[in-house]
Order: sequence, then C-alpha cells, then structure tokens
Amino acid sequence: VRYKEGQGWHNPTIEARAPIPLDPAAAVLHYAQEIFEGMKAYRAADGGVVMFRPDANARRFYQSAERMAMAPVPDALFLAAVRELVRVDRDWIPTGENASLYLRPFMIASEAFLGVKPSSEYLFIVIASPVGSYFSGGAVSVWVSEDYTRAAVGGTGAAKCGGNYAASLLAQREAKTHGCDQVLFLDAVEHRWVEEMGGMNIFFVLDDGSLVTPPLGGTILPGITRDAILTLARDRGLTVREEPYSIDQCYADAASGRLKEAFACGTAAVVTPIGRLCGHRGEVVIGSGNGADPITESLRGALIGIQRGQNPDPYGWVQHVA
Ligand code: PMP
Repeated sequence: VRYKEGQGWHNPTIEARAPIPLDPAAAVLHYAQEIFEGMKAYRAADGGVVMFRPDANARRFYQSAERMAMAPVPDALFLAAVRELVRVDRDWIPTGENASLYLRPFMIASEAFLGVKPSSEYLFIVIASPVGSYFSGGAVSVWVSEDYTRAAVGGTGAAKCGGNYAASLLAQREAKTHGCDQVLFLDAVEHRWVEEMGGMNIFFVLDDGSLVTPPLGGTILPGITRDAILTLARDRGLTVREEPYSIDQCYADAASGRLKEAFACGTAAVVTPIGRLCGHRGEVVIGSGNGADPITESLRGALIGIQRGQNPDPYGWVQHVA
C-alpha cells in the first residue's frame, strides 16, 4: 500500500514477492526512516489459522510510525493487510509443533530527496515466510554488552525501527565471538540496569517465586509477549514486579542462588530459558543451566497452549484470521 501526502493510503495490491523499485535518493536509504513488526500465524487445532494479539502489533506499528515522523498506518488497514496475506498464503502455513508463518509488516520512506526532513511518501508492505523454532531447544547463553548500548533516553528504543537493530549488530557479533547466543543490553546512562536482549524482553525468577522484569521507560521495546507473560504470571498467583534490576544484583543473585531462573520472551523466541550469563564480569550459570526451569516451563506452556488454540483463551488474545 502506498501513501502520498494529499492522497493518503492508496493502491493496495498483492503481488508475488519480487524486488521493489526504489529511487536511489529514497529517504529510507539515507536517513533510515523505517519501521517494522514481527508476528506469527499458526494452524490451530481445529484447522483454522490464528494469530496472537495482532491488534497489539497494529498499535505498536502506529506508535513506531509516530516516533519516526512517518504517516501512521490506521490499525484497520494494518490488520486487513496482514489478514489478506495470511489468507493468500494459507497453504504455506506449516503444521509442525513449533512451526508457523512469520509475518513481517514494514514501512519505508520512499520519497526521493537529499535534505533531512520527514518523507511525504511511504510504502507499507507485508511479507511472509514459514519458520520453525527460533532456538533449537535447551537454554541460551547471553553476553552482557558493557561497551555498546541499544537505546538512549529520549531516543527510539521504544519504537521498532530498523536503526535500533543496525546499532545492535556489533554487540550481537561480540556476543557470538565470545561463544554466546544472544546479547543483553544495559541502560545507556549508568551502564548498570538490565534493559532487554537483541530481539527479546527478559524476566528473572527469584527464590521466593516472584518475577522481575525491567520497567518500560521509553528505552525498551514494549513486547507483546512480555505483556502477556505479566498477565499469565499474575493470574497464576505469582508476584510480578516491573522494576529496575542491576547487572551487579543479577550476578550476585546468580552466585548466591537467589536468582533461580531467567528467560527471554518475544514473538520469535516465545519463552526461552537463559542458562548462562557471560561478560566482562565473568561467567555465571542461572537455574539448572540447561533449560529445565519449572516456572519458565509453566509460563511457556501456558502461553503456547493459548497461542495454538489448545488451551482456553480468557483474554481474547487469539484471533481467527483465515
Ligand atoms: N525487544 C526487542 C528489541 C525486540 O525486537 C522484540 C521482538 N519484537 C521484543 C523485545 C519482543 O517483542 P514481542 O514480544 O512483541 O515480539
């Protein structure tokens, strides 16, 4: 779907995937005016196709657009585009246990000019690809990035814009160099408070059975999975605190045994146990170290059950889309 100032959103089309023509002066290529979303369509037990809280992705996309001075896509248009693509790609939705159709809605500034200003033309596109599990199972290891941060206060951390990810790639590479699967970012002011991972939010489970997750302060992506976990945990009678947790405390709690489990959550990762923290401060094992962590496991089971349509959905999170 195209946007042009004065015309609004127009010309929706469904096309076979192919390169898109773009002027070499298109604003996105120079000033990175780009946002995206990530969502999944699953085949439900009844054979229908379901999505998890697509309205929340539509809202976040709208808010990301506002932060990046882009023309927001109305929620109804976002949802119609996603639904239409799922319908057309229905036969590509895999049936396996952890398989789904990943959908990537994104928007780019397509106006051609060389000054620094918001574009007056945009392209909103949705592409799709069948995917399996993001992680192969077991627990992931996490590298604590002390040299690079992801988001500054007043910056774009709460928006899902490509630039955030471009800025995180070097830290991700550093993590891999040190043999870790993922990177964990600290706050940009004190380099002290745990924020989030490269593409996931993070939760800690303490020995009193309570959960701690960093608060959304404008520097963290407001994850839809994070929000669902907060609700699921509270409804299971767990105490959940959205409060700052320092990396020093995290290491101390892991060493003393007060930190029982940690997990990452997001659309791609769903809920993935964290078994090991590594970084300049050394290495420490969390929980069982191999992913056999009871609270993580039970929250993961509860979430997947709802997402797949195997468990009742008292929250109205799951929507039939095809
Ligand atoms: N943080 C970041 C940086 C992410 O890219 C993602 C994935 N969208 C998340 C958190 C988790 O968000 P969600 O649960 O909405 O997928």
